[in-house]
Amino acid sequence: MAIPKAFCIELNKVVNIYDAHDAYFSQPEPRAKLSFLCPDKSCRDEKSPLLIGVNYTKNPTVDQIKNKPHFRAHHEFRHSLKCPWVEMQEARDELEKEEKKQARNLKNHEIVDVFEPILTSQDVKDEEDDGFLVQTDRIGLLPTKRARIESWKSLIKNRPHKTSRLDEVVTCFELLGDDEKKQVYLDIPDVGRKTYRQHFKSVRYARPDGEARIYYGVARVSLWEKKRYYINFLAKTEDNEFPDAEVSTYITVEQLSRFRGGALLRAQLELSRETKKHPCCYIFGVAETSQKAGNKLSIDYSSLSVFTIRLDTAAT
Ligand SMILES: [Zn+2]
Repeated sequence: MAIPKAFCIELNKVVNIYDAHDAYFSQPEPRAKLSFLCPDKSCRDEKSPLLIGVNYTKNPTVDQIKNKPHFRAHHEFRHSLKCPWVEMQEARDELEKEEKKQARNLKNHEIVDVFEPILTSQDVKDEEDDGFLVQTDRIGLLPTKRARIESWKSLIKNRPHKTSRLDEVVTCFELLGDDEKKQVYLDIPDVGRKTYRQHFKSVRYARPDGEARIYYGVARVSLWEKKRYYINFLAKTEDNEFPDAEVSTYITVEQLSRFRGGALLRAQLELSRETKKHPCCYIFGVAETSQKAGNKLSIDYSSLSVFTIRLDTAAT
């Protein structure tokens, strides 16, 4: 967990880094960078310290990202003496040094532990604080700085990292090594606690068994009558009980216009279409037999927060 939130000057509100990402890509090109201040109101009123947004202007579809997007303190700006975010950042830096012995791209506390997809709404819900602010107040009452930093460290280490965005889960999957994928667990409510490797399934092994999985595969993107983007996976199924089936899904333009972050996703779909590159598509859903045609599967999903694509790993 990085500094989880920041005050965005242009949006005039406290946002998390994914809100900043969505807001940046919702602008027409050339896009302007956003400016961020400390999320603590009294600190902002007193000192107005700038924060740095890292990697929020990168398009995960085309840019290789070594670090997850996050906010960091700006060394030239001082915060108020009582600002909780400074000590939290120090705690985080100490934790990162302790973890440096492990040669991996992803810090332990950055790994998503719980993926809670949105089941009904078309929008991305605000990540819940889970009593985080209550903890901030509690830690603030501790008498020494050392005690507060130790408390932050244990909170950062032990608090489950939750998200409702598949994109964040896929970034973890990409950054984990092959062995780590089999060792690190992800909890998806109603599906269960399994390793990353077990939750992710190539569409080759899709089958209509009613189970929700994170399906992925290289796909062809096409647009039908400016209304629907069809995503047709190139590989057919190789499952013993359901072999040789084509797998597809679709996104409507209307869905994209209602979804926060829809502008970025639409730009990605258009880019794959125009460049005729076949992106790798990830989707959390249930494979179902198509009613119209026999040996075809379509992947049914709840909202666009469970859909993400990557062009950098794609075949042309
Ligand atoms: Zn501050």
